[in-house]
Amino acid sequence: MSIDPKRTIAELKELRALTGDENGAQRVAWTDTWLKARAWFEEKLADLPVEQHYDAAGNGWVTLKGESEKALIIGSHLDSVPNGGWLDGALGVLAGLEILRRFAKEYNGCPPVTIRVVDWADEEGARFGRSLLGSSAFAGTASIEADRIRVDKDGIRLEDALRRCGVDVDRFKESEQEQANATAYLELHIEQGPVLERLGLPLAVVLGTKGVERHAITFHGQEAHSGSTPMGDRRDSLAPLAKLALEIYSIAGKHKDAVCTIGSVKTYPGIVTAVVGRCEATLDQRDLDPDALAQMYREAKSASEQFAAEHGCSVEWSKIWSIEPIPFHPKLLEFCEAAIQETSCEFVVLPSGPLHDAAEVSRAGIPTVMMFVQSLHGISHNKIEDTKEEHLELAIDAMDKLATKTVAWIKELNL
Ligand SMILES: [Zn+2]
Repeated sequence: MSIDPKRTIAELKELRALTGDENGAQRVAWTDTWLKARAWFEEKLADLPVEQHYDAAGNGWVTLKGESEKALIIGSHLDSVPNGGWLDGALGVLAGLEILRRFAKEYNGCPPVTIRVVDWADEEGARFGRSLLGSSAFAGTASIEADRIRVDKDGIRLEDALRRCGVDVDRFKESEQEQANATAYLELHIEQGPVLERLGLPLAVVLGTKGVERHAITFHGQEAHSGSTPMGDRRDSLAPLAKLALEIYSIAGKHKDAVCTIGSVKTYPGIVTAVVGRCEATLDQRDLDPDALAQMYREAKSASEQFAAEHGCSVEWSKIWSIEPIPFHPKLLEFCEAAIQETSCEFVVLPSGPLHDAAEVSRAGIPTVMMFVQSLHGISHNKIEDTKEEHLELAIDAMDKLATKTVAWIKELNL
């Protein structure tokens, strides 16, 4: 009994036509267009022997009961950023649906283990700035207290926007109940980067998600008149930051897949006639290896202190956020590798720089793995986001093989 990847591609196009416009996908979580996408997805379930519900955090669950209650979960997210792409998230959900259909058909509605498809709520955090909202509620890794009062650009509170969609933030924790019987989690996602295209490969085994160290760095110098202050007398707080902005290239360069980014720089007073008295920047560092990540953090910090001293300035660091590297499950990595090879593909193993819902599921202690499919031009979160259809077909096929291997493994664990 084989899978029909072409149907998934047709459905992805249908969803694009329904929820996109000339600027791209508009399925921002907790908006009417997102609800429309979810209603459309529910319609696809009409002829299947499944149960469907939304949990207390708004995650959508489709369950095909099997002989065993132990469940394989396949999923991703239907929400998008504003003006987003047609594949980010939606591919993983619809591939999951296609795999569930195949199991339902092959086993006359009762596969050896339970198969569940999940559509995580608000992966992108596009409206309230809080990504992985639904999957972190499921994993029990976040408290809603810090997030409930967040507001969108129109001043609408997160708590109120969620209530409008039937989600009561006070019941968020109940989402953890969905962990019952969850035995493995698989997620297919577009790479969102240029590596696979450069290597000429369609698919990758994702080793895990990189840990992140995110800090605010403030250099303090002395504001002074730009005309009357000789160069040698300045305590220009932009100078050490400028040195640091270049230094991060050699700090990251010591590790194969590490990345460091100074994404925001603000100067004060920020006028053309004043030496910069205070300079605020953000630094985001990522790697899959916790030791490399810790080393990069130490090196950036000591470089900033050295550069500050060279310019008569001081520097202050404060943590914005951090998360540990999350390596995926060794057995599932093995299955993922084999599934890609059987789809007659060469493959590569890659860490994921962006975080994904899979990272939260893994943090909940559920064996997890992800597969990446090539992104054309490495672009996503944009209407030009695209992947060759032949690669999408290979990916869905390989995911199906991965699901088969995982189901056999769950069955074995169960004996
Ligand atoms: Zn995504």
